[in-house]
Amino acid sequence: MAISYWRRRERYYRLLGNKCSSCGSEYYPPLYICRRCGSESLLDVEMPNTGQIVTYTVLREVMAGFEGQQPLVLGIIRLDNGVKVVGQIVDTPPEALKIGGRVKMVFRKIREEGEAGQIYYGYKFTTLEGKHL
Ligand SMILES: [Zn+2]
Repeated sequence: MAISYWRRRERYYRLLGNKCSSCGSEYYPPLYICRRCGSESLLDVEMPNTGQIVTYTVLREVMAGFEGQQPLVLGIIRLDNGVKVVGQIVDTPPEALKIGGRVKMVFRKIREEGEAGQIYYGYKFTTLEGKHL
């Protein structure tokens, strides 16, 4: 795999957002101008890798490139710093999911394009309940 990919991997895996240096609001994805106070002074900051499920939806039909992953669960996760992100929830049957359940970010294959195609990686979430960490 290309070296540049592994350099970028860090950035994807760590979920780098930013933080306003004047009011302290945090954002992911990063913004250029603070939505709360209008400041343009924002610094890179790593988002926490744990949070809670705000809501989720179960997709029984999936888009091309996601075959074999249904039912695919997409959730809105409130990270422990309050920032909300959208992500796939994996490793847990949909019926075992709970609003408010604790999740942890993991780095996984997102999708694959064709047989010899490119494989995309990124973050997903896995539930923490009932697991030994
Ligand atoms: Zn601000």
